[in-house]
Amino acid sequence: MFLFKGKKATADERKVIMTKQTADGLITYSKSYHPNEGILILKGKSKRQQVVIEGLVIPPFSTHGPYYSGFPTYDLPFDLSYVGTAHSHPGGSNNPSLEDLNNYYGVVSIIICYPYEYETIGAFDRNGKPLHLEIIDA
Ligand SMILES: [Zn+2]
Repeated sequence: MFLFKGKKATADERKVIMTKQTADGLITYSKSYHPNEGILILKGKSKRQQVVIEGLVIPPFSTHGPYYSGFPTYDLPFDLSYVGTAHSHPGGSNNPSLEDLNNYYGVVSIIICYPYEYETIGAFDRNGKPLHLEIIDA
């Protein structure tokens, strides 16, 4: 494994940037599905050091329950602008569950928990490690 040494952040310090409009959309969607989970596809750009999330797509054939939400990924069109998924946790924790990690899609997983505010949005990598998240007013 090659480890880059320098003044810049290492590859595992990837930053996630979400536009305020996207965050607001996620909050509204999550509230409308409460007390069930809601799930969305994230559209944006992925670079080595940073992922920019600029939009949301409602997945086709999604299922929603109090402890599970999902969609068949084989029904998704191949689209390079899909960087991951966002889903809601009606409970008070935004930590990814084992199920979430087993169904990881893309390069970032966004989880928002009740009461669905900017402060309850979390970003996680494939291993469930929290990523630095910024919400910007674009
Ligand atoms: Zn979950």
